Amino acid sequence: MDLSFDPADVSLPSGHYIGGRHRPATGGVTLYRPSDGVAFADCPIGDENLVDEAVQTALAALKASGWASCRPRERVNAMHRWADLIEAEAETLARLEAVASTRPVAQAIEADVAITAEQIRFFAEMADKEGGDLVPTAESQMGMILTEPYGVVGAITPWNFPIAMAGWKLGPALAAGNAVVLKPSEMTPFSTVYLAMLAERAGLPAGLINIVLGDGPTTGNAITGHPDIGKISFTGSTRAGQAIMANVARIGVKPMTLELGGKSPQIVFADADMDLAADCVTRGIIANAGQVCVAGSRLLVEESAAEALAAAIARRMAEIRPGATWEAETGFPPIISQRQIARIAEIVQASVAQGAKVMAGGARIDRSGYFYQPTLLGEVRADSPAVTEEIFGPVLTMQTFRSEDEALMLARHPTYGLAAGVYTRDLSRAMRVTKRIEAGTVWVNRYGRSRDHILPTGGYKSSGIGKDLGREAYRANRRQKSVLIDL
Ligand code: NAD
Repeated sequence: MDLSFDPADVSLPSGHYIGGRHRPATGGVTLYRPSDGVAFADCPIGDENLVDEAVQTALAALKASGWASCRPRERVNAMHRWADLIEAEAETLARLEAVASTRPVAQAIEADVAITAEQIRFFAEMADKEGGDLVPTAESQMGMILTEPYGVVGAITPWNFPIAMAGWKLGPALAAGNAVVLKPSEMTPFSTVYLAMLAERAGLPAGLINIVLGDGPTTGNAITGHPDIGKISFTGSTRAGQAIMANVARIGVKPMTLELGGKSPQIVFADADMDLAADCVTRGIIANAGQVCVAGSRLLVEESAAEALAAAIARRMAEIRPGATWEAETGFPPIISQRQIARIAEIVQASVAQGAKVMAGGARIDRSGYFYQPTLLGEVRADSPAVTEEIFGPVLTMQTFRSEDEALMLARHPTYGLAAGVYTRDLSRAMRVTKRIEAGTVWVNRYGRSRDHILPTGGYKSSGIGKDLGREAYRANRRQKSVLIDL
């Protein structure tokens, strides 16, 4: 089956989606297709009043439907029906994703949409298996921990994996008995709206998922600052995470999970399987053109292996297949925006001006849209912006080390601690290094998540607070109440 499509043929859901109804709206942010730079739609900006309406709708839907108080298996069944529909409508979802974002349609079907359905099933199944606890007490007492949903969860997602990020938020929040007000990125709103429409078609109560479109300063702020939103679930940049904490602190205190930025190291020792390391390191920086929170953007390689590994990575980088996201054969996607590609070019140029050596790429790809070559920079200074800043593009820096201690010293980033890769055949060394790395996730002789969803994901330091995925994400969507009874 040829998955290619004409972007002009895609019918976009219009406006916000509140209480199971579209709310047409015009104006707002002009959207340009990253694949060809053509302006194709607007994203309206929902204001404080609209956010309040969405929150009140969510509260009313919770009350009317009994979503939080029903037999948990009813939630499980409804969410399975939703996952079935997501799978049945994979092509439509993937087109909505591909037209606006950097996700190639084939990858969107095979990975993003499929994973979203899997995760909704994964979290649904927790609804009737995860519970509270009876705790040891004196014989004359009974102590227990009850868990309860928060009510309305406020979720905000980024543009780099729009539908998958919406799944990360909606799956655990709904399974745990909450309603959700979700704001997708203003650059990629459509697949998320459609996802919510499918939920209602699957029988989830109208108003349980409300999608308010808009930007960070207006809509995002209105969500995080709303007094009736019990919990915030955010994925995006560290800068926006800081702003959210400040905004919440302005009105009070609220629990939040924050999945933020990273600048993840990939450490290759000379005893590693070099073909495997070259494959994984290359994939770790070219996947979604480096626009991945866990992009392995800093290669740290033992000095004796550096030359051969750099050549192997450069060869693999040359094999990419750039193309529009609506072409089935595309392997390497565009950068999200003109602004973002200009930033990538600026950081590469600044690093080169400081003495970095371009070992692969280093320039835009000559075609319409926003495409940047996979780039390998050697001889980078430790304070070069390519080493210190989260670039969110296909730019890999290479630094060399002579000892385990030096590798760990280089791996340490003052701000971020999201993920890391370690490549070695020496299991003892792998474990020693893993224990000493400051990161929320470490992959050994691989780079990237599996599709099991059970391992939680989240950052150390300014890469975040709390976890998405795993049991931890479900538990984060319920609050604990300690009860002690004198018998
Ligand atoms: P961003 O922070 O600019 O925007 C993310 C979302 O937050 C958008 O919906 C945006 O409108 C909203 N937003 C921005 N400012 C806000 C504010 N003050 N209050 C409320 N909402 C606000 O990030 P982006 O450019 O969309 O995404 C890229 C970033 O996301 C990178 O830093 C990347 O590392 C991070 N990310 C992290 C993870 C993770 O799991 N840790 C996953 C994906 C992306």
